[in-house]
Amino acid sequence: MRRGGDMTQPILSLRNLTAAFPTEDGLKEVVRNISFDVAPGETVAIVGESGSGKSVTSLAIMGLLDKRARVSGQVLLDGRDLLGLPEKQMRQVRGNDIAMIFQEPMSSLNPVFPVGDQIAELLIRHGQVPRDQVAAEVLRLMDRVRIPNAHARIKDYPHQFSGGMRQRVMIAMALAARPRLLIADEPTTALDVTIQGQILDLIKEIQEEQGMAVLFITHDMGVVAEIADRTVVMFRGDHIETGATADLFTGATQPYTRALLAAVP
Ligand code: ADP
Ligand code: MG
Repeated sequence: MRRGGDMTQPILSLRNLTAAFPTEDGLKEVVRNISFDVAPGETVAIVGESGSGKSVTSLAIMGLLDKRARVSGQVLLDGRDLLGLPEKQMRQVRGNDIAMIFQEPMSSLNPVFPVGDQIAELLIRHGQVPRDQVAAEVLRLMDRVRIPNAHARIKDYPHQFSGGMRQRVMIAMALAARPRLLIADEPTTALDVTIQGQILDLIKEIQEEQGMAVLFITHDMGVVAEIADRTVVMFRGDHIETGATADLFTGATQPYTRALLAAVP
């Protein structure tokens, strides 16, 4: 959860973010006029059912949307608009400022390299750790995300890890860049409930320790209650409402938000 920090300058501000894809019937908007801020150290959730535009929003922030997409509005990182930045500069933003984890860790892991090498490569690429300390830092990160017996496991390949452990590897890789903002797109959706809770606890713990901001995407209001200071509700591409999570649970103004809440056990 958020701990102080400079409230005057958000780390991330979306202003009327809109995204459309070309179809046979012309451009189809799948995200319309999304505007919200994420303060340093804050956890903001985006919640909405499948197809509501959550992943498109997060990919647009990262500059990772399909080239055919038409994106407008602003994605301000420390006040600087990322939309339209050259790819080379976007790669720097992704390497240094914002990290992302996904529902399916296998999609970001290379199956033919041991996980220790993949974490090491990131540390070398981002150049924040002297060469002779990379091996020690890999171990520290794997310990940090509580991969048991990390010393032995650095040589294991991604398929040798369970789903929950692979997500821990992904979190270790995300932390390698020492990002100020972590975007987590349904990182616990593919995991069973016990493991889900452990991964959420890990993200919260690391966030509190490092003061990192988190944009957490989920379709699950139970997860929102667990993790988010504030919550953005999306429905079919529209931004329905934003509020302090606690206020949404006690007094959501929009019927759609109330319907989502009714689904929480
Ligand atoms: P969510 O993450 O909330 O489940 P998405 O952001 O993935 O939803 O998708 C929102 C809408 O955008 C969906 O209707 C989806 O089919 C559409 N969409 C996503 N990516 C593309 C793409 N590359 N080309 C065309 N349509 C897309
Ligand atoms: Mg999605």
